[in-house]
Amino acid sequence: MPLTLAILASALAMSAIVAVRYLVASGAFDLATRAKHPGLYRQLGPQIRREIGWSLASALIYGIPAGVVAWGWQNRGWTLIENPAHPLPLWYLPISVLLYLAAHDTWFYWTHRWMHRPKLFRIAHAVHHASRPPTAWAAMAFHPIEALSGALVIPALVFVIPISLPGLAIVLSVMTVMGITNHMGWEIFPRAVWRGPLGGWLITASHHQKHHEAYNGNYGLYFRVWDRLCGTDQGLGDFARAHAKAASSAR
Ligand SMILES: [Zn+2]
Ligand SMILES: [Zn+2]
Repeated sequence: MPLTLAILASALAMSAIVAVRYLVASGAFDLATRAKHPGLYRQLGPQIRREIGWSLASALIYGIPAGVVAWGWQNRGWTLIENPAHPLPLWYLPISVLLYLAAHDTWFYWTHRWMHRPKLFRIAHAVHHASRPPTAWAAMAFHPIEALSGALVIPALVFVIPISLPGLAIVLSVMTVMGITNHMGWEIFPRAVWRGPLGGWLITASHHQKHHEAYNGNYGLYFRVWDRLCGTDQGLGDFARAHAKAASSAR
């Protein structure tokens, strides 16, 4: 197969994987939402269809750098992904996962803050904030400019920070699950987690919900560290009113 065709095939295969992963994971959390809070997504059908459209376009974009790097990893020995001939020590696995999450969080915090500058917000980020309130389908609902900025992070990090395939699988799973659950309109974590000392540092749905309500704060992805350091942390949102309304409309 000619080189360009092989790289293109790898990119398209990766886009298809990202799209299927999104549809399966968001679909599962959509079902969980409808079981747990019937009526929460009532009247949001047109918005959900828009979220799915933007997310599938994002999947196509996410797949391109990931597919090119995957091809180079397989065929040219690119990346610092663990070589089975020289295994990484097991103790390094949680460290590598934390390093990836912290690096991704830092990239997201600063590009997200930048996306909230008025001009860029109008051009790109308004697409994500058109979800009011967001749903389990909004995790990848981004304008292509924003999708591109997100698509580059993990494919760039595999050249910088060594990681094993299981470590990478954990990072991608955390990314997928937190991206969805932070938008779905209710907390899956016990109150002790998000209200407790851990919740002071970790971002869950209540924190990101506040970003979608208030706009000018809570820019982080996984951790509240940058928001707290930079004075942009606005505390937690409250789902009680939305849930009460959903429950009464579902009756
Ligand atoms: Zn969001
Ligand atoms: Zn935003």
